[in-house]
Amino acid sequence: MARRKRILRWPVLRQLRGQDPRGDAARSPRTDALRPRTEEADTVARSVCPYCAVGCGQLVYVKDGRVTQIEGDPDSPISRGRLCPKGSASKQLVTHPGRQTHVLHRRPHGTGWERLDLDTAMDMITDRVLRTRRETWQQEEDGKVVRRTLGIASLGGATLDDEENYLMKKLYTALGAIQVENQARI
Ligand code: SF4
Repeated sequence: MARRKRILRWPVLRQLRGQDPRGDAARSPRTDALRPRTEEADTVARSVCPYCAVGCGQLVYVKDGRVTQIEGDPDSPISRGRLCPKGSASKQLVTHPGRQTHVLHRRPHGTGWERLDLDTAMDMITDRVLRTRRETWQQEEDGKVVRRTLGIASLGGATLDDEENYLMKKLYTALGAIQVENQARI
């Protein structure tokens, strides 16, 4: 009896006898027991892939406060559930052990990175921005008032969202910087 059962489980026989030769016959009990990790999520958040300007919709699955899976959002009119390999791997952006969570600084002519606390790094950036603006300020050019600095430029990345880009443009315009660009437009 056991032998007969084993023979009947033989894939070729299951394909010949089954209604759906490429469906049930190709499934093993182990396959049937597998469950998607998205099933165990506590919450699902809607988001946008941060990697490029296409802006594919994502569903971010969270369990116990941690991201467990990121998949394409079928309701997105942009991507209709699809993600390219970069977008499919974006879970690593938040969970990869190699992710940097501290400010790192390499001094001029330095050969290694130093860890800085955030306050120190912000002070250093502020000093540099104010000094550069003061040293490169142009009040006029060819008799015309320009009130600008060409010593400061910004190239934003696609990981910035609309609101962040809006605030950055406001800040740079207030500083007199006119070279403001984003990777998404390149
Ligand atoms: S999934 Fe790919 S194509 Fe879509 S936004 Fe992300 S990187 Fe761009």
